[in-house]
Amino acid sequence: RSFNFSAGPSTLPLPVLEKVQKEFLSFQGTGMSIIEISHRSNYFEEIMEQTEQLLRELMNIPNNYKVLFVQGGASLQFSMVPMNLLTSYNTSYYVNTGSWAKKAIAEAEKYGEVHVQNCPIHHIPKLSLDSISLVDYVHITTNNTIEGTKFASIPNTGNVPLVADMSSNILSEEYDVEKFGVIYAGAQKNIGPAGLCIVIVREDLVGQNTLHTLPTMLNYETYVKSNSMYNTPPTFNIYIMKLVLEWLKQLGGVQQIEKINKEKAALLYNFLDESTLFYSNVHIENRSLMNIPFNTTSSQLNEQFISEATSAGFYFLKGHRSIGGMRASLYNAMPIDGVKALVSFMKQFEMKARM
Ligand code: PLP
Repeated sequence: RSFNFSAGPSTLPLPVLEKVQKEFLSFQGTGMSIIEISHRSNYFEEIMEQTEQLLRELMNIPNNYKVLFVQGGASLQFSMVPMNLLTSYNTSYYVNTGSWAKKAIAEAEKYGEVHVQNCPIHHIPKLSLDSISLVDYVHITTNNTIEGTKFASIPNTGNVPLVADMSSNILSEEYDVEKFGVIYAGAQKNIGPAGLCIVIVREDLVGQNTLHTLPTMLNYETYVKSNSMYNTPPTFNIYIMKLVLEWLKQLGGVQQIEKINKEKAALLYNFLDESTLFYSNVHIENRSLMNIPFNTTSSQLNEQFISEATSAGFYFLKGHRSIGGMRASLYNAMPIDGVKALVSFMKQFEMKARM
């Protein structure tokens, strides 16, 4: 297989793809594909139940949190969060750590007042948010896919619910779910195919917004009451999610993948720090384990690098258009050999460029 460094949709574990392929025409000997099987059948209900159970186990999700399977990607949560959580104060507090946070802020501003704390692009300073009051919630983006930064630690928001967009680093390192009121994540990085979004919400935050204009499909309560089956859920995506979670569990769970992810990221960061051609701009304590933007000393060399890397089978290393340069995304399914091969390719490129 090629090494796929895309920021999303991203590489999936090979054993998962092989299993999907093997079972595709006849799920459990039924002579029907999983995509043809009713979501109301025992077959699918079992998948749904097991998927939720696996996620609960892997993330250690307490019983007073609900797990919702929602469509519309993480971007729909930019709207659903304010729609569901703005209650007492009609005010929220957002930490602006980059492009995705900005999009979340733009949506929240449509529904209420938003206080924004802006952070520099390459650094997330330690924030003291525990004195924040008179807001319905605080929103952070735990990992910034485009900028390659992450929160070094999760800020304490006292009694104010903390909402986290965890799209690009869910299940990649251990988080204490109890620190959050809501966690949401688009699936297409560490969970499965695009089109599914996971929402983990503390139960007391559900059903707070009693506005009768809140559309049924945008109300968390609808998903809680119907076990995310008010309408037809994205069955194929949930089935693949289950296989990804089984793969992760077999590997040793989040604790183990965190170790592997740290090892993978260190290989690349160590090289970037030693190199006289490539470099990373991200503040050391906020360096993402998942998305690693880097640069050379000229845009011409960047282009040459991307072109040669693609020809050598290292795909999607072009940086986001707003940042430029390169970006390697090392999600859970990226094997360590992929990172070793990339670093070795970069070393050779550097040697050639210096000749
Ligand atoms: N938030 C973050 C941190 C992301 O990385 C992305 C997508 O890459 C999104 C939100 C948007 O996700 P979606 O495309 O599922 O709406």
